[in-house]
Amino acid sequence: MSDIYHFSRGTAPLLISIPHLGSQIPEAQQPQMTSVALQSGDTDWHLDTLYQFAQALGASVLGARYSRYVVDLNRPPNDESLYPGQTKTGLCPTQAFRGDALYQNEAVLTDAERAQRLEAYWKPYHAKLREELDRIKAEHGTVLLWEAHSIASVLPRLFEGKLPDLNIGTSDGASCAPDILAAVQGRLDACTDYTWAVNGRFKGGYITRHYGAPADNVHAIQLEMCQSTYMDETYPYGYRPDLAGKVIPVVEGMVTAALRQTTARQR
Ligand SMILES: [Zn+2]
Repeated sequence: MSDIYHFSRGTAPLLISIPHLGSQIPEAQQPQMTSVALQSGDTDWHLDTLYQFAQALGASVLGARYSRYVVDLNRPPNDESLYPGQTKTGLCPTQAFRGDALYQNEAVLTDAERAQRLEAYWKPYHAKLREELDRIKAEHGTVLLWEAHSIASVLPRLFEGKLPDLNIGTSDGASCAPDILAAVQGRLDACTDYTWAVNGRFKGGYITRHYGAPADNVHAIQLEMCQSTYMDETYPYGYRPDLAGKVIPVVEGMVTAALRQTTARQR
């Protein structure tokens, strides 16, 4: 068992990664942080619960234990911007999405501190991700990496208006084969209950872009879903089974279609 992530191994060529699932802040860092930070408000809450259907599909599931406020696992280690020109949420953020300060005194976030967090939290998650992608590919010849994310539906500091409910990102088509994306989009086309976008504001973060290599049979897709589709977006961020029960079949339909197409390409 790892202190850095939860992992359960499955039998299918499918790895679900949930890098923002964690809400823990290490004890040593807590005194430096604000009360807002200690709530870990920008966590991708409850996605382990939402994706429980994936066990029956044979998925392997990797989820972070620590908050993105410690170090953001879906940012490049050199912290270059994923969306140049837009407000950035960095590798070791100093502000929450809504703009609140995360540190009592940002000066604690030295280069040495950032480097230590990369070593202690970022690298072990990515080492496990790489190891599992390699293992699954060796076993099946192919692998679908499904990057599971969720975010508050309205965040004026980061984007205008309300986000579409379901946002698929494949790095503008670079991170997965077109027929796999088409299979996912087919499910969205058939869905009338939710708004959606493909490669719109969210094109996939670092993990989707870095690991997706369709020519090498690694197909990566990010789903960034609005938290309003399954939970309360304000503290204490409760799970809403009444809402989740409607969106889960849609997410399951997309993952199933993508997995089926990933497997079919091997024949
Ligand atoms: Zn996320």
